[in-house]
Amino acid sequence: MGKTLKAGAAGIRKAAAALRRGGVVAFPTETVYGLGADGLNPEACARIFEIKGRPRFDPLILHECSAARARKLFARAPAAAEKLMKKFWPGPLTLVLPKAAAVPDIVTAGLKTVAVRVPSGPHALALIKAAGRPIAAPSANRFGQLSPTAAGHVTKQLGDGPDLVLDGGRTRIGVESTIIAFEKGRPVLLRPGGLPLEEIEKAAGPVLKPGKTGKKPLAPGCLKKHYAPSAKLKIIKPGSRVKPGPGAAYLAFSRKPAGRFAAVKVLSRSGDLREAAAGLFRALHALEISGARVIYAEEVPGHGLGRAIMDRLRRAAA
Ligand code: AMP
Ligand code: MG
Repeated sequence: MGKTLKAGAAGIRKAAAALRRGGVVAFPTETVYGLGADGLNPEACARIFEIKGRPRFDPLILHECSAARARKLFARAPAAAEKLMKKFWPGPLTLVLPKAAAVPDIVTAGLKTVAVRVPSGPHALALIKAAGRPIAAPSANRFGQLSPTAAGHVTKQLGDGPDLVLDGGRTRIGVESTIIAFEKGRPVLLRPGGLPLEEIEKAAGPVLKPGKTGKKPLAPGCLKKHYAPSAKLKIIKPGSRVKPGPGAAYLAFSRKPAGRFAAVKVLSRSGDLREAAAGLFRALHALEISGARVIYAEEVPGHGLGRAIMDRLRRAAA
């Protein structure tokens, strides 16, 4: 039976030992909870796919505890990538580049490129350091369902699948990392996330958005439907009229709706997108268990972290 341990020194020591033995451990990062295994051990990584019910074509992200160690997982990197590593690691930015020979095929789903990031969450950093190897870790949810931002979300979905769950409280950022690949040395956005696009563009110039041009396929696993609650989700303009009642729940951006709903969550009373992102999945988990058949979710402004929030809402609604 999987155990939950506090993410203190003793818990981290036990979790690191489990990872070294080929075990699977759920742990908090600053984005969401990850389901980790030794990233250089193919059998350990295979268990991640089994526990999540994740298709094998969907590659994993490798997590390292320093930029210098992370850099070694790439065969090479263009100047723009070096700049982004220097500026944003540790942090919620994943880079996709040609893989080093040591990276197993199961991690990259057979691709020649690998996705790598250095998390800034203190528990994650301490765990990776103690394990002494890169940790492969997708989000610790069942494939396609809501991402976990608290230890309780992990056990709700995965039960005793993981050998251990480290409980470090709520995650600070609350949405997954921003994923950037490179084409002829120029950054391309594969998934909006916890690092706003504006900050990346300030540091490295314009970023291509392949979803907009429709020319390039998205990253494998970046499916149209994902991050979905069990109720039907409908995106609406803020303040538009919807029918209240016990069968409906409401996710507001900054102002409570009129009428009685099964449940109502307000993401940020002050209209702050960072606060909204941090509480997004927690609010959706709560609305999911309200028993409502439909969740009305208000659109949020599409800049900064709003881009990641709208991406998750659109896929939950697909
Ligand atoms: P998750 O860790 O669950 O947030 O998902 C990781 C995502 O990273 C995958 O679903 C892919 O979309 C993306 N990804 C990982 N490795 C690669 C790669 N080599 N090329 C393109 N996208 C990748
Ligand atoms: Mg995921």
